[in-house]
This record gives sequence, C-alpha cells and structure tokens, in this order.
Amino acid sequence: MDTIAAIATPPGQGGIGIVRISGPRAGEILRRMFVPANASFRDFVPRMLHLGHIVDQAGEPLDQCLAVFMPGPATFTGEDTAELQCHGNFALCRLILAEALRQGARQAERGEFSRRAFLNGRIDLSQAEAIAELAAAPSRSAMRYSLRRLDGELGRRVAALRASLDNLRLSACVALDFTAEETGEILVEDFCAQLDEILEQLGALVEAGKRAELSQRGRLVVLAGPPNAGKSSLLNYLCGSERALVTPHPGTTRDFIDVALDMAGLPVRLVDTAGLRLDATDPIERLGVARSEELLAQADLVLLVIDGVSAEVADGRLLGPYADILANIEVDALCLWNKCDVRPAPPDLLLGQRALELIPVSALTGANMDRLVALLENSLTAELPAEEDLAPNVRQAESLRAASAELEFLRADLLAGVSVDCCLGRLDTARLALDELLGLAPHDELLNRIFDQFCIGK
Ligand code: GDP
Repeated sequence: MDTIAAIATPPGQGGIGIVRISGPRAGEILRRMFVPANASFRDFVPRMLHLGHIVDQAGEPLDQCLAVFMPGPATFTGEDTAELQCHGNFALCRLILAEALRQGARQAERGEFSRRAFLNGRIDLSQAEAIAELAAAPSRSAMRYSLRRLDGELGRRVAALRASLDNLRLSACVALDFTAEETGEILVEDFCAQLDEILEQLGALVEAGKRAELSQRGRLVVLAGPPNAGKSSLLNYLCGSERALVTPHPGTTRDFIDVALDMAGLPVRLVDTAGLRLDATDPIERLGVARSEELLAQADLVLLVIDGVSAEVADGRLLGPYADILANIEVDALCLWNKCDVRPAPPDLLLGQRALELIPVSALTGANMDRLVALLENSLTAELPAEEDLAPNVRQAESLRAASAELEFLRADLLAGVSVDCCLGRLDTARLALDELLGLAPHDELLNRIFDQFCIGK
C-alpha cells in the first residue's frame, strides 16, 4: 500500500482544518513538514498533539498547527497515520496537502481511508457504510441507526446468524452420515425448528429495516388548497420560520416552497404548492397548478387546507373547489379548517360522497396546532414497525431478504420430502448473502459502489 493524504474537513472557512496522511511513509512525511515549537522536542510521542509549524519545501512556514502521529496497526486505517490540524482556511489546507503530496504521498480517493480500514480488518463492511451514513444522516433516527451500525452491533448479529447456518449445516452432515436411515424424520423436524429460529431473526431485522429506510428517504407532505386558504402560513408555522411569502393576495405562492423537517424522527419534506386555482388563466399560474398536481401524485400525505373564512357550506356540505382538489388526491389526506380564529369549524362536512373529518386550526394564532402535529406524526408513522435499535440499511436488508428467501425455499423443499442432503446448497447460498452483507467476499464493484459515496478524506 502506498501512502495517501487528503483534506478531511469540508471546503470553506472554519475553526480548524485537518489534513490526514495514512500509510507506511506517514511518519516520515510528517517529520519533513513539521517544525516543533518546543526546543526539547526529539520525536513524536504516539497519539500526542505537538505544537509547531508546517513548512513548505523551502522551509517557509505555511501555518501554525497541531500535529499528531499514530503508529499502526491500532489506528483507524490500521496503518501509520498522521494528522495536521491547521487553521480552517481551505486554501491553506490545500497548500499543506500539496506539500504532503510533494513529499511522496498520493491524493486519497473518495472513502479511501475507510476502505483501508475495511481491507485491513479494522471494521466490517456494515461499519464502513455506517461512517458515510452518519455523515449524511438526514434525521435523528437515521443518526441513531448509523451509530448502532458503526459500533459493529449489526455485523456481530449477522455474523452470529451466519454461524448458526454453519452449525445447522454441520449437524445435518453429521446426522446424515450416521443416522439418515432411521431418524430422517426427526432430523427434518429438528432442522426446521432451528431454521425457523434463524428465519425469525432475519425477518425481524428486515422489518426494522423498513423504518430505517424511511429514516433516510423520508416522507413527502404536500399542502394543497385554493389560493389564500393559508397554506404558506401553515408551512411557516410548522417549520417555525418565515420561509414562505405570506400575503393577503391570492396566488402569491407560484412556485414551491420546500422545507425539510424532522417529525417523529423521520425526515419530512413539507411542500407548499402553488394554490390549486383550477380556473387559473395566467400561464405561469397554470404551470404552477400542473406541477402541484404532479407533486400531489407523489405525496405520502396531503394536508388539504380549507379557507375557513370564505368556505361555502350549505346543508352540511362543503361547496367550492375542494371536491375537484380532493378528486385528484389518491393518498391519505388530513382536512384542515384553517382560520378557525375567525370562523369556528362546523361539525364534519360532506364533500361529494365523502365525509370529511375536519381539524380546526389557526395558522395565525396557533390554535389546535399541537393536535395537528400529533395527527401528522401519527399518520406519518402509521403502519411502520416500532423503532428498533438495530436495523439494516437498504443494501443490507436486500442481503437479509435474499438469505431469508433461500431458507424459506429450503424449508418448503424439506417439507415436500426432498432429502436434507439435496437441500444443503440452499444453506450455502443463504450464507453467501450474509457474507455479502458483511463484506467477507468483497468484489471491487461492490466496494466501489459503497466507497464512492464517501467524501474525500474519510
Ligand atoms: P396561501 O395562498 O394558501 O398560501 O395563503 P397565505 O398563507 O398566504 O394566507 C392568506 C391570507 O390568510 C394571509 O393574509 C394570512 O395572514 C391569512 N391567514 C392565514 N392563516 C390564517 C388564520 O389562521 N387566521 C386568519 N385570521 N388569517 C389567516
């Protein structure tokens, strides 16, 4: 392995900037670039920060810095590693990196430090993935899941399941050698019981993965309703800032206002559509209406906002544009009677054939908004499995599902009377799926796919 270097902190200005070097020549390169401040300095004490200057080829100081040398193999990458902590000026970091490259290091590729940690056996593949996921986690629960995978718990759980498959195979082989004739039936029963236990654990992990996936992907909530109903005001209230332009003139929100919220631990994209004025003649407004309809089709939940002040109600029926709007909505919708501070919500209304359960709210005074938030959170998490500590990511869930499917086939084969020795290949295929999750038989395409998602310097 050669020696690699990269800037580990993001572009821009910040408190500190870090340049990282890893590989057999890390110590030598560091020593050439570093002039200690302390006259009694003899050499780097492993894992201790030393104050000094980083200098260029000509001995010209580039910055004052703290430097640390960490000898392998007890480092993140498993190799000798050096870190230079300078002032957080990206241009300065680039000069320091250039100096490290001149001294013999190579610019690291995306995720190459983590890739080395994996290849040197410091972490398994699920932990490597957790590093990139933690850096990009869009919600509190996504952070929690990534952190649990980072500490290796998922890897250990899957490794234990893999060991159970091995034991199963072994006991089947032993039993087959000695007692196949007499105890074939007992063997199948016993085998299936153990198989069921493994299947149950695989199933629980896959189920937990559904919530983990949502904690990454998030949910789309769309505000719909006629112009002036108070959609922008509701969005502002829900995100606690003046993101949307609120005016008393209908048709102000011509394009989408899109905010990211964390609700019930899930990342939520809340979008304020252009008012759905179906008779809009202005071409730009019509375009906005068309895009609103597209968004409605993609939504996980729609908040239909009724303008409580101007809504026409006759004989318990809601008149006006709402029936047309609702007809376009195929997903779950909550019906909000906004402006209840001016006109209280009537009891539930009929809209066409549909009975509307109204939620009275006021985006102006905040009345009933707590209830709205609670209902929103309930709708967003309905039908989701309870939040588990441990859950696979999408790739890992795929491997677990593949292993599970193979074991289900195996079970069905056995019950259909196929002999145990003819089914053992399926055990091996299931085991391979778990190997893929753990990265035990990694192929370049898989590793490239994973590590290409990393930042440079990680
Ligand atoms: P949008 O076109 O649906 O986005 O509506 P806006 O949020 O721009 O609101 C239209 C007008 O209704 C503005 O003058 C708001 O101040 C007003 N408004 C919004 N919500 C309420 C409310 O709950 N009560 C009252 N009284 N006025 C509201």
